[in-house]
Amino acid sequence: MDNNAAYRAPYRAVLERAFAHALAHLENLDRAPVAATATLPELRGRLGKPLPDDGLPAPQVIDELAADVAGGILGSAGGRFFGWVIGGTTPGSLAADWLTSAWDQNAGLYAAGPAEAVIEEVCGAWLKDLLGLPAGASFALVTGSQMAHVVGLAAARHALLARRGWDVESQGLAGAPPIRVLSSSERHGTVERALRLLGLGTACVSDLAADEAGRLPADTLAAALRTEAERPTILLLQAGDLNIGAYDPFAELIPLAHAHGAWVHVDGAFGLWAAASPAHRHLLAGVELADSWVTDGHKWLNVPYDSGYAFVADPAAHRASLSHRASYLTHTEEARDELDWNPEWSRRGRGVATYAALRELGRRGVADLVERTCRYAHELVMRIGSLPGAEVVWEPQINQGLVRFPDGRPGATDADHDRRTDEVIAGILQTGEAFFGGTTWRGKRCMRVSVCNWQTSEQDVERAVAAARQALQPARPATT
Ligand SMILES: *Cc1c(COP(=O)(O)O)cnc(C)c1O
Repeated sequence: MDNNAAYRAPYRAVLERAFAHALAHLENLDRAPVAATATLPELRGRLGKPLPDDGLPAPQVIDELAADVAGGILGSAGGRFFGWVIGGTTPGSLAADWLTSAWDQNAGLYAAGPAEAVIEEVCGAWLKDLLGLPAGASFALVTGSQMAHVVGLAAARHALLARRGWDVESQGLAGAPPIRVLSSSERHGTVERALRLLGLGTACVSDLAADEAGRLPADTLAAALRTEAERPTILLLQAGDLNIGAYDPFAELIPLAHAHGAWVHVDGAFGLWAAASPAHRHLLAGVELADSWVTDGHKWLNVPYDSGYAFVADPAAHRASLSHRASYLTHTEEARDELDWNPEWSRRGRGVATYAALRELGRRGVADLVERTCRYAHELVMRIGSLPGAEVVWEPQINQGLVRFPDGRPGATDADHDRRTDEVIAGILQTGEAFFGGTTWRGKRCMRVSVCNWQTSEQDVERAVAAARQALQPARPATT
Protein backbone atom coordinates (compact mmCIF):
# COMPACT_ATOMS: atom_id res chain seq x y z
CA MET A 1 0.00 0.00 0.00
CA ASP A 2 2.80 2.41 0.91
CA ASN A 3 4.29 2.09 -2.55
CA ASN A 4 1.03 2.89 -4.28
CA ALA A 5 1.34 6.33 -5.84
CA ALA A 6 -2.43 6.76 -5.94
CA TYR A 7 -2.54 6.08 -2.22
CA ARG A 8 0.15 8.60 -1.42
CA ALA A 9 -1.12 11.25 -3.80
CA PRO A 10 -4.79 10.51 -4.38
CA TYR A 11 -5.54 13.84 -6.02
CA ARG A 12 -2.74 14.19 -8.52
CA ALA A 13 -3.87 11.86 -11.31
CA VAL A 14 -7.48 12.97 -11.28
CA LEU A 15 -6.69 16.67 -11.09
CA GLU A 16 -4.34 16.31 -14.01
CA ARG A 17 -7.16 14.71 -15.99
CA ALA A 18 -9.51 17.52 -14.99
CA PHE A 19 -6.90 20.10 -15.99
CA ALA A 20 -6.51 18.48 -19.43
CA HIS A 21 -10.28 18.34 -19.98
CA ALA A 22 -10.72 21.94 -18.85
CA LEU A 23 -8.05 23.17 -21.26
CA ALA A 24 -9.48 21.05 -24.07
CA HIS A 25 -12.82 22.78 -23.52
CA LEU A 26 -11.52 26.32 -23.11
CA GLU A 27 -8.97 26.20 -25.90
CA ASN A 28 -11.44 24.72 -28.36
CA LEU A 29 -14.20 27.30 -27.83
CA ASP A 30 -13.34 29.09 -31.04
CA ARG A 31 -13.94 25.98 -33.13
CA ALA A 32 -16.75 24.23 -31.26
CA PRO A 33 -20.42 24.98 -31.99
CA VAL A 34 -21.79 27.57 -29.56
CA ALA A 35 -25.20 25.90 -29.24
CA ALA A 36 -25.85 22.39 -27.93
CA THR A 37 -25.55 19.60 -30.48
CA ALA A 38 -26.55 16.66 -28.29
CA THR A 39 -30.23 15.91 -27.81
CA LEU A 40 -31.93 15.34 -24.47
CA PRO A 41 -32.31 11.57 -25.09
CA GLU A 42 -28.63 11.38 -26.05
CA LEU A 43 -27.54 13.13 -22.87
CA ARG A 44 -29.83 10.98 -20.73
CA GLY A 45 -28.60 7.88 -22.48
CA ARG A 46 -24.94 8.69 -21.88
CA LEU A 47 -25.15 10.15 -18.37
CA GLY A 48 -27.94 7.98 -16.99
CA LYS A 49 -25.72 5.03 -16.15
CA PRO A 50 -26.68 2.68 -13.36
CA LEU A 51 -25.44 3.85 -9.96
CA PRO A 52 -22.44 1.55 -9.44
CA ASP A 53 -22.40 -0.80 -6.49
CA ASP A 54 -18.65 -0.49 -6.21
CA GLY A 55 -16.87 2.78 -6.72
CA LEU A 56 -14.78 3.55 -9.78
CA PRO A 57 -11.31 5.07 -9.96
CA ALA A 58 -11.67 8.86 -9.90
CA PRO A 59 -9.69 9.43 -13.15
CA GLN A 60 -12.07 7.09 -14.96
CA VAL A 61 -15.07 8.96 -13.52
CA ILE A 62 -13.67 12.26 -14.77
CA ASP A 63 -12.71 10.94 -18.23
CA GLU A 64 -16.15 9.42 -18.75
CA LEU A 65 -17.86 12.54 -17.46
CA ALA A 66 -15.99 14.72 -19.94
CA ALA A 67 -16.88 12.33 -22.77
CA ASP A 68 -20.54 11.96 -21.80
CA VAL A 69 -21.34 15.69 -21.67
CA ALA A 70 -20.09 16.22 -25.24
CA GLY A 71 -22.51 18.40 -27.18
CA GLY A 72 -24.37 19.30 -24.00
CA ILE A 73 -22.12 22.14 -22.86
CA LEU A 74 -23.02 25.51 -24.36
CA GLY A 75 -20.19 27.71 -25.57
CA SER A 76 -21.08 30.39 -23.02
CA ALA A 77 -17.48 30.58 -21.80
CA GLY A 78 -16.53 31.94 -25.23
CA GLY A 79 -16.96 35.20 -27.08
CA ARG A 80 -19.93 34.41 -29.36
CA PHE A 81 -22.54 33.63 -26.76
CA PHE A 82 -25.10 36.46 -26.56
CA GLY A 83 -28.06 34.61 -25.03
CA TRP A 84 -29.83 35.80 -21.84
CA VAL A 85 -27.32 37.77 -19.74
CA ILE A 86 -24.50 35.30 -19.21
CA GLY A 87 -20.85 36.06 -18.61
CA GLY A 88 -17.84 33.79 -18.97
CA THR A 89 -15.04 33.49 -16.47
CA THR A 90 -11.76 35.34 -16.43
CA PRO A 91 -8.70 33.07 -16.17
CA GLY A 92 -7.82 34.36 -12.72
CA SER A 93 -11.29 33.88 -11.29
CA LEU A 94 -11.54 30.37 -12.73
CA ALA A 95 -8.22 29.41 -11.18
CA ALA A 96 -9.28 30.97 -7.88
CA ASP A 97 -12.52 29.00 -8.05
CA TRP A 98 -10.54 25.76 -8.39
CA LEU A 99 -8.52 26.72 -5.32
CA THR A 100 -11.74 27.46 -3.44
CA SER A 101 -12.79 23.86 -3.98
CA ALA A 102 -9.34 22.53 -3.10
CA TRP A 103 -9.30 24.50 0.16
CA ASP A 104 -12.95 23.56 0.80
CA GLN A 105 -13.46 25.97 3.67
CA ASN A 106 -16.80 26.52 5.31
CA ALA A 107 -17.06 30.24 4.73
CA GLY A 108 -19.86 30.80 7.21
CA LEU A 109 -17.71 31.84 10.13
CA TYR A 110 -14.32 33.46 10.50
CA ALA A 111 -13.37 30.56 12.79
CA ALA A 112 -14.11 27.99 10.06
CA GLY A 113 -12.32 29.84 7.26
CA PRO A 114 -10.29 32.82 8.50
CA ALA A 115 -8.67 33.81 5.20
CA GLU A 116 -11.94 33.60 3.30
CA ALA A 117 -13.74 35.78 5.85
CA VAL A 118 -11.09 38.44 5.30
CA ILE A 119 -11.24 37.99 1.51
CA GLU A 120 -14.99 38.72 1.59
CA GLU A 121 -14.44 41.75 3.78
CA VAL A 122 -12.00 43.09 1.20
CA CYS A 123 -14.31 42.20 -1.73
CA GLY A 124 -17.16 44.10 -0.09
CA ALA A 125 -15.05 47.24 0.23
CA TRP A 126 -13.70 46.99 -3.33
CA LEU A 127 -17.14 46.38 -4.81
CA LYS A 128 -18.71 49.37 -3.02
CA ASP A 129 -15.88 51.55 -4.24
CA LEU A 130 -16.12 50.33 -7.84
CA LEU A 131 -19.91 50.49 -7.97
CA GLY A 132 -20.14 53.92 -6.35
CA LEU A 133 -22.11 52.72 -3.30
CA PRO A 134 -21.81 54.20 0.19
CA ALA A 135 -18.67 53.03 2.00
CA GLY A 136 -20.72 52.37 5.15
CA ALA A 137 -23.12 49.92 3.47
CA SER A 138 -23.12 46.29 4.62
CA PHE A 139 -22.98 43.50 2.07
CA ALA A 140 -23.36 39.79 1.46
CA LEU A 141 -21.83 37.56 -1.19
CA VAL A 142 -24.63 35.24 -2.25
CA THR A 143 -25.41 32.80 -5.07
CA GLY A 144 -26.84 35.38 -7.45
CA SER A 145 -29.19 38.31 -7.71
CA GLN A 146 -32.07 36.03 -6.77
CA MET A 147 -30.73 35.58 -3.25
CA ALA A 148 -29.38 39.12 -3.18
CA HIS A 149 -33.00 40.27 -3.57
CA VAL A 150 -33.94 38.10 -0.61
CA VAL A 151 -31.20 39.73 1.47
CA GLY A 152 -32.07 43.31 0.48
CA LEU A 153 -35.80 42.81 0.86
CA ALA A 154 -35.42 41.00 4.20
CA ALA A 155 -33.61 44.08 5.48
CA ALA A 156 -36.37 46.26 4.03
CA ARG A 157 -39.06 44.18 5.71
CA HIS A 158 -37.24 44.42 9.02
CA ALA A 159 -36.70 48.17 8.87
CA LEU A 160 -40.17 49.15 7.67
CA LEU A 161 -41.89 47.06 10.33
CA ALA A 162 -39.47 47.90 13.16
CA ARG A 163 -40.31 51.57 12.58
CA ARG A 164 -43.94 50.64 13.24
CA GLY A 165 -43.08 48.76 16.43
CA TRP A 166 -43.33 45.32 14.83
CA ASP A 167 -40.54 42.78 15.30
CA VAL A 168 -40.93 40.62 12.20
CA GLU A 169 -38.09 38.27 13.09
CA SER A 170 -39.95 37.06 16.17
CA GLN A 171 -43.58 37.86 15.38
CA GLY A 172 -43.66 36.89 11.73
CA LEU A 173 -45.98 38.62 9.29
CA ALA A 174 -49.39 37.50 10.50
CA GLY A 175 -51.02 40.61 11.93
CA ALA A 176 -48.19 42.89 10.83
CA PRO A 177 -48.88 46.19 9.09
CA PRO A 178 -49.23 45.13 5.43
CA ILE A 179 -46.23 46.08 3.31
CA ARG A 180 -46.79 47.12 -0.28
CA VAL A 181 -44.30 47.12 -3.15
CA LEU A 182 -44.34 49.76 -5.86
CA SER A 183 -42.44 48.58 -8.86
CA SER A 184 -41.56 49.49 -12.37
CA SER A 185 -43.42 47.17 -14.72
CA GLU A 186 -40.03 46.11 -16.14
CA ARG A 187 -38.91 44.18 -13.07
CA HIS A 188 -37.27 40.76 -13.20
CA GLY A 189 -39.05 37.59 -12.02
CA THR A 190 -36.49 37.02 -9.27
CA VAL A 191 -37.99 39.92 -7.33
CA GLU A 192 -41.36 38.23 -7.18
CA ARG A 193 -39.78 35.01 -5.99
CA ALA A 194 -37.95 36.89 -3.25
CA LEU A 195 -41.25 38.44 -2.14
CA ARG A 196 -42.83 34.99 -2.09
CA LEU A 197 -40.01 33.54 0.01
CA LEU A 198 -40.23 36.44 2.47
CA GLY A 199 -43.95 35.90 2.99
CA LEU A 200 -44.86 39.25 1.44
CA GLY A 201 -46.47 37.56 -1.54
CA THR A 202 -46.91 38.98 -5.01
CA ALA A 203 -50.35 40.47 -4.49
CA CYS A 204 -48.75 43.39 -2.62
CA VAL A 205 -46.98 44.55 -5.79
CA SER A 206 -48.38 47.47 -7.77
CA ASP A 207 -47.04 47.73 -11.29
CA LEU A 208 -46.27 51.27 -12.32
CA ALA A 209 -46.07 51.76 -16.07
CA ALA A 210 -42.64 52.62 -17.43
CA ASP A 211 -42.33 55.19 -20.21
CA GLU A 212 -41.22 54.54 -23.81
CA ALA A 213 -37.60 54.31 -22.70
CA GLY A 214 -38.41 51.81 -19.95
CA ARG A 215 -38.04 54.37 -17.15
CA LEU A 216 -40.46 54.93 -14.29
CA PRO A 217 -41.80 58.52 -14.57
CA ALA A 218 -41.64 60.67 -11.42
CA ASP A 219 -45.27 61.80 -11.65
CA THR A 220 -46.45 58.19 -11.87
CA LEU A 221 -44.48 57.39 -8.74
CA ALA A 222 -45.66 60.51 -6.93
CA ALA A 223 -49.30 59.60 -7.58
CA ALA A 224 -48.77 56.03 -6.34
CA LEU A 225 -47.03 57.23 -3.18
CA ARG A 226 -49.96 59.54 -2.38
CA THR A 227 -52.44 56.66 -2.31
CA GLU A 228 -52.32 54.57 0.86
CA ALA A 229 -49.57 56.91 2.04
CA GLU A 230 -49.54 55.30 5.50
CA ARG A 231 -48.63 51.84 4.29
CA PRO A 232 -45.06 50.60 4.72
CA THR A 233 -43.70 50.81 1.18
CA ILE A 234 -40.85 49.28 -0.78
CA LEU A 235 -40.00 50.92 -4.09
CA LEU A 236 -38.28 48.70 -6.58
CA LEU A 237 -36.13 50.35 -9.23
CA GLN A 238 -34.16 49.04 -12.20
CA ALA A 239 -30.54 49.71 -12.99
CA GLY A 240 -30.50 47.98 -16.37
CA ASP A 241 -33.71 46.06 -17.10
CA LEU A 242 -33.49 42.66 -18.70
CA ASN A 243 -34.61 43.57 -22.23
CA ILE A 244 -33.21 46.97 -23.04
CA GLY A 245 -30.98 47.83 -20.10
CA ALA A 246 -33.13 50.79 -19.01
CA TYR A 247 -32.16 52.86 -15.96
CA ASP A 248 -34.74 54.55 -13.78
CA PRO A 249 -34.09 58.24 -13.01
CA PHE A 250 -32.71 57.59 -9.53
CA ALA A 251 -31.82 61.15 -8.57
CA GLU A 252 -35.43 62.16 -9.10
CA LEU A 253 -37.25 59.07 -7.80
CA ILE A 254 -35.32 58.13 -4.67
CA PRO A 255 -35.74 61.44 -2.77
CA LEU A 256 -39.43 61.35 -3.67
CA ALA A 257 -39.77 57.85 -2.20
CA HIS A 258 -37.77 58.76 0.89
CA ALA A 259 -39.99 61.75 1.54
CA HIS A 260 -42.79 59.17 1.96
CA GLY A 261 -40.68 56.91 4.18
CA ALA A 262 -40.32 54.21 1.52
CA TRP A 263 -37.39 51.79 1.29
CA VAL A 264 -35.77 51.86 -2.16
CA HIS A 265 -34.35 48.61 -3.52
CA VAL A 266 -32.40 48.63 -6.80
CA ASP A 267 -32.05 45.65 -9.13
CA GLY A 268 -28.76 46.19 -10.90
CA ALA A 269 -28.01 42.53 -11.70
CA PHE A 270 -25.79 43.59 -14.55
CA GLY A 271 -26.52 47.29 -14.97
CA LEU A 272 -24.86 48.42 -11.74
CA TRP A 273 -21.52 47.64 -13.39
CA ALA A 274 -21.96 50.68 -15.62
CA ALA A 275 -20.77 52.59 -12.55
CA ALA A 276 -17.30 51.18 -13.14
CA SER A 277 -17.09 52.95 -16.49
CA PRO A 278 -16.52 56.71 -16.69
CA ALA A 279 -18.35 56.66 -20.04
CA HIS A 280 -21.55 55.12 -18.64
CA ARG A 281 -21.54 56.16 -14.98
CA HIS A 282 -23.98 59.03 -15.59
CA LEU A 283 -26.78 56.46 -16.09
CA LEU A 284 -26.55 55.71 -12.38
CA ALA A 285 -26.60 59.25 -11.04
CA GLY A 286 -28.33 59.21 -7.66
CA VAL A 287 -28.37 55.42 -7.30
CA GLU A 288 -26.18 55.71 -4.20
CA LEU A 289 -29.17 57.25 -2.38
CA ALA A 290 -31.06 53.93 -2.35
CA ASP A 291 -31.41 51.61 0.65
CA SER A 292 -30.41 48.30 -0.91
CA TRP A 293 -28.77 47.22 -4.14
CA VAL A 294 -28.29 43.95 -5.96
CA THR A 295 -25.79 42.92 -8.60
CA ASP A 296 -24.12 39.82 -9.98
CA GLY A 297 -20.51 38.72 -10.26
CA HIS A 298 -21.31 35.89 -12.64
CA LYS A 299 -22.66 38.18 -15.36
CA TRP A 300 -20.63 41.25 -16.26
CA LEU A 301 -17.68 40.70 -13.91
CA ASN A 302 -17.11 37.27 -15.50
CA VAL A 303 -16.56 35.20 -12.39
CA PRO A 304 -17.82 31.59 -12.33
CA TYR A 305 -21.32 30.76 -11.08
CA ASP A 306 -22.61 31.18 -8.33
CA SER A 307 -21.83 34.77 -7.51
CA GLY A 308 -24.14 37.65 -6.62
CA TYR A 309 -23.83 40.59 -4.23
CA ALA A 310 -26.31 42.37 -1.96
CA PHE A 311 -25.60 45.75 -0.36
CA VAL A 312 -27.63 47.44 2.36
CA ALA A 313 -27.27 51.09 3.39
CA ASP A 314 -28.41 50.34 6.96
CA PRO A 315 -26.16 47.58 8.33
CA ALA A 316 -28.24 47.28 11.51
CA ALA A 317 -31.37 46.38 9.53
CA HIS A 318 -29.41 43.93 7.39
CA ARG A 319 -27.84 42.22 10.37
CA ALA A 320 -31.04 42.11 12.40
CA SER A 321 -32.81 40.30 9.55
CA LEU A 322 -30.22 37.51 9.19
CA SER A 323 -27.85 37.23 12.13
CA HIS A 324 -28.02 34.22 14.41
CA ARG A 325 -26.12 33.20 17.51
CA ALA A 326 -25.65 29.60 18.59
CA SER A 327 -23.61 28.25 21.46
CA TYR A 328 -21.77 25.67 19.36
CA LEU A 329 -20.56 28.24 16.85
CA THR A 330 -17.45 30.25 17.52
CA HIS A 331 -18.27 33.89 16.97
CA THR A 332 -15.69 36.60 16.99
CA GLU A 333 -16.18 40.21 17.84
CA GLU A 334 -13.58 41.68 15.57
CA ALA A 335 -13.76 39.55 12.45
CA ARG A 336 -16.68 39.47 10.02
CA ASP A 337 -18.69 36.25 10.32
CA GLU A 338 -20.44 35.77 6.96
CA LEU A 339 -23.33 34.09 8.77
CA ASP A 340 -24.37 37.46 10.19
CA TRP A 341 -25.06 38.84 6.71
CA ASN A 342 -25.84 35.82 4.53
CA PRO A 343 -28.91 33.62 4.25
CA GLU A 344 -26.80 30.44 4.10
CA TRP A 345 -25.22 28.62 7.03
CA SER A 346 -22.49 26.37 5.63
CA ARG A 347 -21.30 27.92 2.40
CA ARG A 348 -18.66 27.97 -0.26
CA GLY A 349 -15.89 30.56 -0.05
CA ARG A 350 -17.27 32.34 -3.05
CA GLY A 351 -15.43 35.56 -2.38
CA VAL A 352 -12.19 34.05 -3.61
CA ALA A 353 -13.11 34.16 -7.31
CA THR A 354 -14.40 37.72 -7.02
CA TYR A 355 -11.21 38.76 -5.23
CA ALA A 356 -9.11 37.29 -8.02
CA ALA A 357 -11.20 38.83 -10.83
CA LEU A 358 -11.03 42.30 -9.29
CA ARG A 359 -7.26 42.13 -8.91
CA GLU A 360 -6.78 40.57 -12.32
CA LEU A 361 -8.83 43.27 -14.07
CA GLY A 362 -8.20 46.25 -11.85
CA ARG A 363 -10.29 49.39 -12.00
CA ARG A 364 -9.30 50.08 -15.59
CA GLY A 365 -9.84 46.50 -16.66
CA VAL A 366 -13.42 46.49 -15.39
CA ALA A 367 -14.10 49.84 -17.07
CA ASP A 368 -12.64 48.51 -20.30
CA LEU A 369 -14.69 45.31 -20.07
CA VAL A 370 -17.88 47.33 -19.65
CA GLU A 371 -17.08 49.75 -22.46
CA ARG A 372 -15.90 47.08 -24.88
CA THR A 373 -18.97 44.90 -24.41
CA CYS A 374 -21.27 47.91 -24.79
CA ARG A 375 -19.51 48.83 -28.03
CA TYR A 376 -19.86 45.28 -29.39
CA ALA A 377 -23.53 45.10 -28.39
CA HIS A 378 -24.13 48.31 -30.30
CA GLU A 379 -22.28 47.02 -33.32
CA LEU A 380 -24.10 43.67 -33.28
CA VAL A 381 -27.55 45.20 -33.01
CA MET A 382 -26.97 47.89 -35.62
CA ARG A 383 -25.28 45.58 -38.11
CA ILE A 384 -27.62 42.61 -37.76
CA GLY A 385 -30.58 45.01 -37.65
CA SER A 386 -29.56 46.55 -40.97
CA LEU A 387 -29.37 43.24 -42.84
CA PRO A 388 -32.15 42.70 -45.39
CA GLY A 389 -35.03 41.05 -43.55
CA ALA A 390 -34.08 42.51 -40.17
CA GLU A 391 -34.87 45.63 -38.16
CA VAL A 392 -33.50 47.27 -35.05
CA VAL A 393 -36.06 47.34 -32.25
CA TRP A 394 -33.85 48.75 -29.49
CA GLU A 395 -30.50 50.41 -30.07
CA PRO A 396 -28.31 49.57 -27.08
CA GLN A 397 -27.42 52.32 -24.66
CA ILE A 398 -25.41 49.74 -22.71
CA ASN A 399 -24.80 46.07 -23.51
CA GLN A 400 -28.39 45.04 -24.33
CA GLY A 401 -30.42 45.54 -27.48
CA LEU A 402 -33.23 44.04 -29.54
CA VAL A 403 -33.54 43.03 -33.19
CA ARG A 404 -36.54 41.63 -35.06
CA PHE A 405 -36.93 39.69 -38.30
CA PRO A 406 -40.22 40.66 -39.97
CA ASP A 407 -41.89 38.30 -42.38
CA GLY A 408 -41.46 39.94 -45.78
CA ARG A 409 -44.54 38.43 -47.42
CA PRO A 410 -47.26 40.88 -48.35
CA GLY A 411 -50.03 40.89 -45.80
CA ALA A 412 -47.87 39.19 -43.16
CA THR A 413 -49.44 39.47 -39.71
CA ASP A 414 -47.86 40.13 -36.32
CA ALA A 415 -47.99 36.40 -35.68
CA ASP A 416 -46.02 35.85 -38.92
CA HIS A 417 -43.38 38.36 -37.84
CA ASP A 418 -43.10 36.62 -34.47
CA ARG A 419 -42.76 33.23 -36.12
CA ARG A 420 -40.18 34.49 -38.60
CA THR A 421 -38.16 36.03 -35.75
CA ASP A 422 -38.03 32.72 -33.86
CA GLU A 423 -37.17 30.93 -37.09
CA VAL A 424 -34.18 33.19 -37.78
CA ILE A 425 -32.95 32.88 -34.19
CA ALA A 426 -33.10 29.08 -34.54
CA GLY A 427 -31.28 29.39 -37.89
CA ILE A 428 -28.45 31.37 -36.27
CA LEU A 429 -28.10 28.76 -33.54
CA GLN A 430 -27.95 26.07 -36.19
CA THR A 431 -24.88 27.63 -37.77
CA GLY A 432 -23.07 26.91 -34.49
CA GLU A 433 -21.40 30.30 -34.88
CA ALA A 434 -23.35 32.38 -32.39
CA PHE A 435 -26.01 32.07 -29.71
CA PHE A 436 -28.88 34.53 -29.18
CA GLY A 437 -32.13 34.18 -27.26
CA GLY A 438 -35.65 35.39 -27.96
CA THR A 439 -37.91 37.58 -25.87
CA THR A 440 -41.33 39.15 -26.16
CA TRP A 441 -41.01 42.88 -25.68
CA ARG A 442 -44.08 45.13 -25.80
CA GLY A 443 -46.00 42.36 -27.47
CA LYS A 444 -43.43 41.61 -30.19
CA ARG A 445 -41.06 38.67 -30.53
CA CYS A 446 -37.51 39.95 -30.70
CA MET A 447 -33.99 38.60 -30.67
CA ARG A 448 -32.19 39.71 -27.57
CA VAL A 449 -28.56 40.72 -27.89
CA SER A 450 -26.57 40.74 -24.68
CA VAL A 451 -22.79 41.07 -24.62
CA CYS A 452 -21.21 40.23 -21.27
CA ASN A 453 -18.21 38.08 -22.03
CA TRP A 454 -14.69 39.39 -21.48
CA GLN A 455 -13.53 37.39 -24.51
CA THR A 456 -15.85 38.85 -27.15
CA SER A 457 -13.73 40.39 -29.87
CA GLU A 458 -14.15 42.23 -33.14
CA GLN A 459 -13.78 38.88 -34.96
CA ASP A 460 -16.55 37.40 -32.85
CA VAL A 461 -18.82 40.25 -33.88
CA GLU A 462 -17.93 39.59 -37.55
CA ARG A 463 -18.70 35.89 -37.19
CA ALA A 464 -22.01 36.55 -35.44
CA VAL A 465 -23.11 39.03 -38.11
CA ALA A 466 -22.12 36.52 -40.80
CA ALA A 467 -24.17 33.85 -39.03
CA ALA A 468 -27.21 36.14 -38.99
CA ARG A 469 -26.72 36.93 -42.67
CA GLN A 470 -26.56 33.20 -43.41
CA ALA A 471 -29.69 32.45 -41.38
CA LEU A 472 -31.55 35.18 -43.26
CA GLN A 473 -30.36 33.91 -46.65
CA PRO A 474 -32.41 30.84 -47.48
CA ALA A 475 -35.86 31.37 -48.89
CA ARG A 476 -38.34 31.08 -46.06
CA PRO A 477 -39.67 27.56 -45.96
CA ALA A 478 -43.37 27.48 -46.78
CA THR A 479 -45.31 27.47 -43.53
CA THR A 480 -48.27 25.22 -43.29
C1 LIG B 1 -30.10 37.95 -14.26
C2 LIG B 1 -30.98 38.95 -13.62
C3 LIG B 1 -31.53 38.71 -12.36
C4 LIG B 1 -31.36 37.38 -11.66
O1 LIG B 1 -30.03 37.16 -11.34
P1 LIG B 1 -29.50 35.72 -10.93
O2 LIG B 1 -28.05 35.96 -10.71
O3 LIG B 1 -29.79 34.85 -12.11
O4 LIG B 1 -30.21 35.28 -9.71
C5 LIG B 1 -32.28 39.70 -11.78
N1 LIG B 1 -32.48 40.88 -12.40
C6 LIG B 1 -31.97 41.15 -13.62
C7 LIG B 1 -32.20 42.48 -14.25
C8 LIG B 1 -31.18 40.19 -14.28
O5 LIG B 1 -30.67 40.45 -15.47
